[in-house]
Amino acid sequence: MSTRQPRGAGHPDCWGKCRTYPGDPSWSEPHIWDELKKTVDGLLICWRPVVIACHHPHFDEEQCNEVRKQWHSPQYLEKSSSAIQTPLFANKSCDPFTEPDAPCAIGNHVAYSVKFAKEHNLCFGCMGKSTGSQALAVWMGHLRLTEWFDDYEGSNYTGPAVKMQAGVPVEQTYEEANARGLVMVSGVCPTVDFSGGYIQGGGHGPFGSLYGLAADQTLYVEVITTTGEFVRASPTENSDLFWAMSGGGGGTYGILWTVTVKAFPDIPIAGGRIGFSKSDKLSDDTCFAFYSNEKFDLPVVFLPNGTSRSIITFLQPFVDKLSSMRIPRKADYETYPNFLPAYKELELWDNRDGGGVEDSAGAFNIAIRPTLKVAGNPDDAVYPALNSSPAIQGKLYKITAYVGLLRELTPGSGPYLNEADPYERNWQQAFHGSHYNKLLSIKDKRDPDQILYGSTAVGGDRWSEKDDGRLCPAQSGVQWFLSEAFGRGRGALASFLPSL
Ligand SMILES: Cc1cc2nc3c(=O)[nH]c(=O)nc-3n(C[C@H](O)[C@H](O)[C@H](O)COP(=O)(O)OP(=O)(O)OC[C@H]3O[C@@H](n4cnc5c(N)ncnc54)[C@H](O)[C@@H]3O)c2cc1C
Repeated sequence: MSTRQPRGAGHPDCWGKCRTYPGDPSWSEPHIWDELKKTVDGLLICWRPVVIACHHPHFDEEQCNEVRKQWHSPQYLEKSSSAIQTPLFANKSCDPFTEPDAPCAIGNHVAYSVKFAKEHNLCFGCMGKSTGSQALAVWMGHLRLTEWFDDYEGSNYTGPAVKMQAGVPVEQTYEEANARGLVMVSGVCPTVDFSGGYIQGGGHGPFGSLYGLAADQTLYVEVITTTGEFVRASPTENSDLFWAMSGGGGGTYGILWTVTVKAFPDIPIAGGRIGFSKSDKLSDDTCFAFYSNEKFDLPVVFLPNGTSRSIITFLQPFVDKLSSMRIPRKADYETYPNFLPAYKELELWDNRDGGGVEDSAGAFNIAIRPTLKVAGNPDDAVYPALNSSPAIQGKLYKITAYVGLLRELTPGSGPYLNEADPYERNWQQAFHGSHYNKLLSIKDKRDPDQILYGSTAVGGDRWSEKDDGRLCPAQSGVQWFLSEAFGRGRGALASFLPSL
């Protein structure tokens, strides 16, 4: 067992040391896992990858075929704490379609305890965002309780609202709201967790053009911090944490236990979709020139309080352009009396090709204009560019080169941290703009031992992922100390050296 004492981020001793990893002397003491299991009432999961049945020595043809059949279904994958929806972020290890002899060993224990991770110098939520080699993770998927308020009264809002636990998926938000004659700003994909990365990173959705982003609707959050506190954060209590967790990114400042957000009366909505793909008999050249080598989709355009006629008018210039290039497309538009039927009919449309993600891209939600004005000018950590321009978000994999073209197309807009190019070089500025330094100081205050990590989460650039997956400081303690002190100005330097 390592006796290394955790130190605050402000202490250079914290730096220069990698997180503990299998093979290290302190890793192999089984009793530490037994102790952890006791402290969390047995809720410690020692998991095996869902794909293990496709690889020796656990190969089982029947089970493996079942995994292969379901491999693109988020509903199937979400039942396991070990499943990763985008295998790219697990280095495509444990792939059900590789040979049974190919190794399958992506991880070890998924465990429940921040304190434990801190004491044992383990990585918590490493690599990518919620994928990480040998990291501990908290699985929130079963926390799905909600509490609805007809007339919530807060410091700056009175009206319908809902308090939701961290595992409530988008689908549940719409179903429950609909049962009460309400709607809310929530996402498009039914299986995304509303209270997880979605709302903490901003959160766009069908009602964005009317009410703003999901993070703009946050009234208060309940958070478990890595210093072991359970705190309520709102515009008037722990306001720094509230601000950061309303748009500053998930997995960074604390673990969100519940979030309470505004809800609104249900209204008529128009919906439409348009797209074309290689399978629509286009040559590679034509399609590539447009957006990617696979397809272009505007899978769902929602217009709250609008009609199908207004969507047709909005898309007409684009349709004319496609016609002039003789590009066949799929399209339809409709007006619905209220939201849920529109969502149920339109959301599934994009699943027609089973989701080929790695070399394709989708441009979507061009119609969303979640400005600060429609959101009521909230003070939150959402990247200002997202709230100020028509948002075009690129869902891009392996096509970093396209990002430059998107930027030229959308001057003044910015990438959305939840759906951006994962290899964005200047992600601090690109995802957070002028908010970055403020977010970093909140991160240091609320997570002083830097337990929470994501490669593109605030503070993530202080770490680097080695070839074996181990997480190590990006700089030596001295380098870090100097860059922090001088990078953040004399005030910061004085706080490290109180005698100055
Ligand atoms: C199919 C699909 C459709 C999507 N549609 C939309 C959409 O319509 N609108 C939109 O805005 N985005 C959309 N997204 C992007 C989505 O917002 C992000 O993928 C988001 O990060 C998902 O959050 P999650 O909690 O479900 O995922 P995870 O991968 O579990 O979490 C993402 C990050 O949030 C952190 N996190 C999760 N839960 C918590 C918690 N309780 N407390 C603190 N940190 C936490 C994790 O540590 C991680 O850093 C979509 C994504 C997919 C895959």
